[in-house]
Amino acid sequence: MLSSIRERYLHTLDQIAKAAAGSGRIPEEVRLVVVSKTQPLEVIRAAIAAGISMFGENYAEEALGKIAALKETEVEWHMIGHVQSRKADIIARNFSMLHSLDSSKLAEKMERICSELNRTLPVLLEFNVSGEESKFGFSAWEENHWSDLKPDIEKILSFSHLHVNGLMTMPPLFEDPERTRPYFQRLRKLRNYLANQFPQVQWQELSMGTSVDYIAAIQEGATFVRVGKAILGPRVIKK
Ligand SMILES: *Cc1c(COP(=O)(O)O)cnc(C)c1O
Repeated sequence: MLSSIRERYLHTLDQIAKAAAGSGRIPEEVRLVVVSKTQPLEVIRAAIAAGISMFGENYAEEALGKIAALKETEVEWHMIGHVQSRKADIIARNFSMLHSLDSSKLAEKMERICSELNRTLPVLLEFNVSGEESKFGFSAWEENHWSDLKPDIEKILSFSHLHVNGLMTMPPLFEDPERTRPYFQRLRKLRNYLANQFPQVQWQELSMGTSVDYIAAIQEGATFVRVGKAILGPRVIKK
């Protein structure tokens, strides 16, 4: 039984390294974002003390409080949840990367704000590859409709303050990772399609895989895995 954040963190890093090596990849290709949504500050402080320096948050305002409280640390914050347009400013000012750019409307708003702030924001485009209605992201579950995505993507790629690095997805939740694997495969296939259509862009990043299925995600090409519960423990229910 792994009883501390540090033990679970080291165990996860070990699993990541093994999964990468087992698929002929180098472990450094895969980065671990520790998902701290709804976790209180004490837990994040304990995680920092355990050596964790990259956190993923889902809710702009909740994250803002944590980021302010931990300003003196060397932590990197990644936004992984749906961002409402009116919260775009919080993201542009406080985050290192946006994994969940899910509409051209949000992209437009982010571009305007980043331009005002004179910064470039690394972003990933979020795709819904399952068709599950509750999921955000550009619709991409039907491969023969992928060409419909091109006008939106072309527009986002024209924004000079957004740096598109790759793709992200959040598949339906299954306990058995073999049920999510096909969605990871579809995201990788979509990446290859986009790399073909838009060769001027580096589509190297694939953000996919959570506590239950990050090993399968790495086997399918993940470069970012987003792991919460398996390291930080159960979440406080959000009221
Ligand atoms: C909550 C969340 C995760 C992490 O889920 P765990 O089950 O805690 O590992 C990863 N990605 C996104 C987008 C999330 O909302």
